[in-house]
Parts: sequence; C-alpha cells; structure tokens
Amino acid sequence: MSIKENLIDTYKTIEESAKKASRNKEDITLIAVSKTKPIEMLEEAYEAGIREFGENKVQELTDKYEKLPKDIHWHMIGHLQTNKVKYIVDKAYLIHSVDSIKLAKEISKEAVKKNVVSNVLIEVNMAEEESKFGVSKDDTLPLIEEIAKLPGIKVRGLMTVAPYVEDAEENRLIFCKIRQLFIDIKEKNIDNVSMDFMSMGMSGDYSVAVEEGATHVRVGTKIFGEREYNI
Ligand SMILES: *Cc1c(COP(=O)(O)O)cnc(C)c1O
Repeated sequence: MSIKENLIDTYKTIEESAKKASRNKEDITLIAVSKTKPIEMLEEAYEAGIREFGENKVQELTDKYEKLPKDIHWHMIGHLQTNKVKYIVDKAYLIHSVDSIKLAKEISKEAVKKNVVSNVLIEVNMAEEESKFGVSKDDTLPLIEEIAKLPGIKVRGLMTVAPYVEDAEENRLIFCKIRQLFIDIKEKNIDNVSMDFMSMGMSGDYSVAVEEGATHVRVGTKIFGEREYNI
C-alpha cells in the first residue's frame, strides 16, 4: 500500500475509535512519525496532506526542517539531551519528552534567548518500565508546578510511551490512568499551564488510545512501513 493509502486507513481507524467514544475526530491530531525515513517519503505524506511530523533525534529533525516546507509542525518525541536544546527550541512545535527540571530549565533559558515560548508535554512513565524515559506518576504534578514558574516554557499536557504489546487492549489501563492523571492536574488550574493535550498511542495501539482520550497519536510503522536501523 502507498503512504497515501496508509494515511487514509489510519484516519479511518481514528474516526471509528473517536465515534465509539463519542468524540469528534477533529479533536485528534495524527502525527506521522518519520524517524529514519528519507525525505522523499515525508514529501509523499506532505502531498497527501500531512503537516504534523514526529522525529526522535535532534539532528534528523533539524535536517528535515531545513529541507521541507515551513508550514510543517515538527514534534520532538524522543529523549532530549540538554546540550541539544538550543538547536530545536525554535523549530519544534511541541516537545513531547520533558521529564526533568534540568531539561525544562534549559528549554526555558534557550527559549527566552530566542524570544519564543516553547510548548512542551511531560513524558510520564506510566507503565513504570525501567528501560523507559519519563517521570513517575507521583512526580508529575510536582515537576509541572516547578516548570510553571519558568519563563519561555509552557506545559500543554502529558505524553506516554506504552509498552509494546501484541494486543492493544493490554494498554487500555495505562491510557486510562494517564487520562485520570491529566484530569487531576487540569483541575488544579495551575497558572501558566494549559492541560490541553494527551499524546499517546502508536501503530499497535492508537485505536485504544483514541478511545481513552488521546488528542495526539504518534504513528510511524503503519504509515511508512517498518524501520531499518542497520543501514
Ligand atoms: C517511534 C516512535 C513512535 C512510532 O512508533 P510506531 O510503532 O512505528 O508507530 C511513537 N512514539 C515514539 C516516542 C516513538 O519513538
């Protein structure tokens, strides 16, 4: 299947899942995760209407940023090192992977320098997998309260990477817990924090994530095919 056909298929699934949960499909943003994929494939997705792309490496994001049209929103979805923040703070539309005050302070500093406001999500390790980045559920609110005091950075919601599972249903509880945490924090109405976004769901489980309230799904393999890392 072509990228365009894969996109049509993905949008159809999003629409069906939204309907099941009595949600509007317009409230869900599909991010095409294009990491490791060549520019030509991104151009194909762009021509099919995609304006939201997700990358997990700073160098790759900035390279692709230079080569593609400027109406694209670039989502930084991978672990971000503090020393690389300066390269993307004015290029990333949304940074999904903030998980420490140290990183948030660096984003704040660089954003102020460039006179921008950086929109970020807090990455929560809801499954408590040791191999994963992200803060624990209990550390999420204290971290957000700290970040809220910083200039040039605005918390917009939460992100999680659920475990790889054969059956998407196995991740429903995790998505449900994220939504609960999201609501709890939203109800606190913290100054300088807008809890608008929940970034959750990948190729294997985005339908369940949408049913559980995802506003952003990050889909790579289903759109662009399997990734090859050993090239
Ligand atoms: C690679 C990646 C995705 C996309 O994964 P697929 O299974 O290919 O859809 C989503 N989120 C993050 C954080 C990723 O690193």
